[in-house]
Amino acid sequence: MNPTWVVFHITDRCQLNCKHCLRDPEIKSQDLSLDLICNVLDEAWQLYRCKHVGLTGGEPSLHPQFYEIIDAIVARGYTWHVVTNSEKFSRMVAKLDEKPERLSTCTAMNFSIDGATEEVHDKVRGPGSFRNVMQAVAICTMRKIPFIMQMTVNAYNAHQIEQMAMMASHLGSGRMSFGMTQPTGTYLDEEMFLSTAEWRTVLDTITRLQGSLHMPVSFTDSFYREEPFFVCQPFRSEILHVDPKGNLTLCCQHSGVPTEGAPADVLGNLHEVSLADAHQKMLDVIHYAQTEKNKAIKEGTLSEWDLFPCNFCMKLFKKPYWTDEGRGGVEAKRERWRGKWAVDAEKVTGCGGGPKKIA
Ligand code: SF4
Ligand code: SF4
Repeated sequence: MNPTWVVFHITDRCQLNCKHCLRDPEIKSQDLSLDLICNVLDEAWQLYRCKHVGLTGGEPSLHPQFYEIIDAIVARGYTWHVVTNSEKFSRMVAKLDEKPERLSTCTAMNFSIDGATEEVHDKVRGPGSFRNVMQAVAICTMRKIPFIMQMTVNAYNAHQIEQMAMMASHLGSGRMSFGMTQPTGTYLDEEMFLSTAEWRTVLDTITRLQGSLHMPVSFTDSFYREEPFFVCQPFRSEILHVDPKGNLTLCCQHSGVPTEGAPADVLGNLHEVSLADAHQKMLDVIHYAQTEKNKAIKEGTLSEWDLFPCNFCMKLFKKPYWTDEGRGGVEAKRERWRGKWAVDAEKVTGCGGGPKKIA
């Protein structure tokens, strides 16, 4: 496939401290350089005729040059969307309003929401967060700004999937997207764990919703696939993902996640190599991953967890991954840079605990 869009993980800065945050607690927050973004945008158009940009983080709006980044995107004829935690959203909209073309080229505000009720959402993302999302939705509705809602499913909120989709539909969301929580490498994995059987139930619920609501309902490539050789969107080369250091990586789940040893999934630093060369390395790494998968299929060594494409991928590239016992792979041993995990530092090692039932 031809790459059709570029995702920039522009900053690790964030006001929140979500339990499922994948960003390595050991890494100090960084911002992607505007110059590099401009170069990549130019190359992505010249090489592949990319037309769309996704902005993620961290909280992207905390990048010190967020609005200059938007202007650089717009000036080059791209459309864009941003994944936001909704903190200070009214301020973001006021700044975007300073130039009409900023909002007119935005395809959607993607609101992260992790529960259909304040209690559940705030348990995952922190007090006051649910109200901020609801305020952001109200602003979008009033201003006719398109928005979508995306929920990362885990043991805290798996019982609210239907309620969440109904609420999104009722609020006028353009789509409801469900993602699967990947382990973070911290003690919090134990609290978020779902067994393979529970994930199958989650997927059944989501697929049932797809046929019963007017609003589109989607789920990410991470969920269980019956076909062992399932090829995800990044492996189809449809997305190019750039992390805050300027590295091309396979996807956002490979960006700033704790890794054992030298990361084999960094495909080239775009400060040093061209996008075309880094993309070539990406194709080599994808070939390696697919070869390993095919080998496991042939040898009959694929476990049920390996049929969750991202879980196989995380394991292969030495990140934390789910097992029947909880979490396998590398642990994140140090307290988080925001300091909020320091009180629980003694719990940082080990997942254990085993499966939790969906309430
Ligand atoms: S999951 Fe997103 S919003 Fe939550 S702490 Fe991590 S970067 Fe911030
Ligand atoms: S983690 Fe791996 S399998 Fe999952 S979407 Fe990213 S590249 Fe694909």
